[in-house]
Amino acid sequence: MKLTAKIKLLPTPEQAQNLIDTLSRANQACNALSEIAWENKQFKQFGLHKLAYYPIKEQFGLSAQMIVRGIAKVVDAYKLDKKTKREFRPTGAIAYDSRIISYKPPRKTVSIWTIQGRQSIRYAGGEHNEALLKFQQGESDLLCRKGKWFLLATCDVPDEQTSEINSILGVDLGIVDLATDSDGQRFTGSEIRKYRKKRASIRASVQAKKNAKASKSTIKNTRRLLKRISKKEQTTSTIINHTISKRLVKKAQSSVRGIALENLKGIRDRTVPRLRKKQRNEHSSWPFSQLRQFIAYKAQLAGVRLVIVPPAYTSKTCHECHHLGHRSGKSFTCTNCGNCSDADHNGAQNIAAVGASVTWPENSTLYCALHRC
Ligand SMILES: [Zn+2]
Repeated sequence: MKLTAKIKLLPTPEQAQNLIDTLSRANQACNALSEIAWENKQFKQFGLHKLAYYPIKEQFGLSAQMIVRGIAKVVDAYKLDKKTKREFRPTGAIAYDSRIISYKPPRKTVSIWTIQGRQSIRYAGGEHNEALLKFQQGESDLLCRKGKWFLLATCDVPDEQTSEINSILGVDLGIVDLATDSDGQRFTGSEIRKYRKKRASIRASVQAKKNAKASKSTIKNTRRLLKRISKKEQTTSTIINHTISKRLVKKAQSSVRGIALENLKGIRDRTVPRLRKKQRNEHSSWPFSQLRQFIAYKAQLAGVRLVIVPPAYTSKTCHECHHLGHRSGKSFTCTNCGNCSDADHNGAQNIAAVGASVTWPENSTLYCALHRC
């Protein structure tokens, strides 16, 4: 499985300047290559290489691999459309391959080619990246965002051997509790809810100021502030999604279970009308697709089987007697057997049951029961 590790570099000020110069020189070379491609109507890798490799190498003093990557970047850019001449920003990302970059995880440094020669630059690495970097293979993109330097490193992670499983842990994703599993455990800290409520009220008051008669500069400032708030919310929800998915996968792994998730095309359509507006605002914009992705790849990394089940009736069926019941907000009542329980827990138990009924294809970690793929 191909995954990308996002590595934050910690260059010294001189190293940072060096990276800027390298990025800018490489993009200048790309512009020169683009010019040659455009003039000669030569948009193929081999043809452009033949035409431009030596003159560009001579002119820009870049390493051979840099030029080769540059030619690939230009050819790639013309693939979409050959009717507009391509230009590249001086800070556009550039690709490094293993000949001009190497990672040294024990020392948390990366050895990277620059126009001042090879540099050994420190990087910040979390647990997740450390694990991924062991499988680093192929290209890395060097990019600069708001003065911070990152490497996006391609990692080819081997699939863990999947072990035999005893049963299935069903997971219901919902808006009030972000996730509820079939054991009845809920994955929503009240802190998250409080945090988002507070954010929402700040957002509302800023919005109100923006709507009131305000000068141009005030509008500009509030717009900036709103953007900052949403960025911060995004970071927070990503961290929370990482935490929830990690806990779910660990739980399944330690109890020798697989995980069943609903195919959630319509989580919003399904859940939103049930909720009062106040509740809706708290989580309706939650990045559920990201949460599902995180569960999927963490499960695969850990060798935990994951099955995607069709969502039909899982929220409306009674898990005890399989009759249709009533769901109102967070509570579920069955008119047939009298079962009365938490709606999401009931849903998660149904999902687990559907997941357990699936016949797994051999040697596969991920199985989509919906499309049988
Ligand atoms: Zn029932």
